Amino acid sequence: MLLDVSTAYAAVMNTVRDFGTEQLSFTAATGRVLREPVLADRPFPPFDRATMDGIAINFTESYGKGQTIFGVEDIQPAGVPRKQLGNMANCLEVMTGAVIPELTDTVVPYEHLQASEHEGFKRFTITQPVQKNQNIHWEGADGAAGKTLITPGARITPAEAGVLATVGKYEVSVGRLPRVAVIATGDELVEVTATPAPHQIRMSNVYSLAASLQGLGITATIHHVVDHKPAIQQLFESLKNVDVWICSGAVSAGKYDHLPVILEEMGMQRIFHKVEQRPGKPFLFGLFKDGPVVFALPGNPVSGFMCFYRYVQPWLLAGMGHQISPVPYAVLGQDVTFNKPLTYFLPVQLQPQPTGEWKAIPHNYNNSGDLPALLTADAFMELPAAQDHFKAGECFPVWRFR
Ligand code: AMP
Ligand code: MG
Repeated sequence: MLLDVSTAYAAVMNTVRDFGTEQLSFTAATGRVLREPVLADRPFPPFDRATMDGIAINFTESYGKGQTIFGVEDIQPAGVPRKQLGNMANCLEVMTGAVIPELTDTVVPYEHLQASEHEGFKRFTITQPVQKNQNIHWEGADGAAGKTLITPGARITPAEAGVLATVGKYEVSVGRLPRVAVIATGDELVEVTATPAPHQIRMSNVYSLAASLQGLGITATIHHVVDHKPAIQQLFESLKNVDVWICSGAVSAGKYDHLPVILEEMGMQRIFHKVEQRPGKPFLFGLFKDGPVVFALPGNPVSGFMCFYRYVQPWLLAGMGHQISPVPYAVLGQDVTFNKPLTYFLPVQLQPQPTGEWKAIPHNYNNSGDLPALLTADAFMELPAAQDHFKAGECFPVWRFR
């Protein structure tokens, strides 16, 4: 049964499974999805903190009464327990990050002071107007102790890493990564290190798929099998404990395209085979009950690549706990005609415009075997099946791979 793209996508997303959680050191968790809330262990900031280097004074008892010259009693550096002002007419020098000393409530920065000496004692004269409470970051101003700082489902980026560190959350519960096997099929394929005979090619799909997976933090195992039914069956049997199979090739109508039959014989529940799209029409999708989910992508390099970003990546991200962000749109930069009843995934180059939009410049590629075409493209623009003529200036979704 031939499905349209959005039905196929919905069918794929309908099978999203949770890959579970694991505990990781926060330093190893960048890019992962947090699966527990992170709470403030103390108020933010944990004490009244000086935000400038200068002097701390008691505003009401001194400057508030017109006093502008202050003798220095002591110094309050950062990392030193809280000191106390002895005489309200004096000051304590205070450093950025230090606790505001007891009985002081205002910090005057050095930039607004003139230093002098009087009878062997250091003193400061205030040269600029002072506001009560200035230059203090008050305890709890950014959040009370116990406040939820990061909610489950957040991706751990450098900003989250800093917050995890500051609250002492050195071990975190994160979404587990799925085990993924990438499987190339084809008698014509040889290893990357081999010199192909004239009728052979080096296998490339599995490496671009593995690189795409690496971008999600997943290290896949890579396999190659010839177009020989028992060999394919044997390999599949050995991979039954893996979460996901991403196969490349052998799903079309060719004599040696064995995957649909073998997978069905092995008990895979076929969700769909063939999607109304170009490239990638022969895409086969199914799953084993209590076993792997199978994305069997066409062998043509551009087809498999497109299917990965349109279907496989969102499915993986959802299973890892990511919130799926809305698909961005871009403005088509040139008229395009495609008069087949298929969704057309057009490789495009994305150019940022001063208007804040992305302009999508269509890429002239030859066919779905034109692998180097992807080198100068950034995304696939999804042009709907119901339309034949696409005008420059119209907006369509783009599936970015760069
Ligand atoms: P298939 O889907 O098996 O009919 O393959 C379609 C085309 O993609 C053929 O020209 C294959 O040689 C090519 N192809 C299949 N698998 C790979 C691969 N792993 N790397 C590069 N090209 C491939
Ligand atoms: Mg093949």
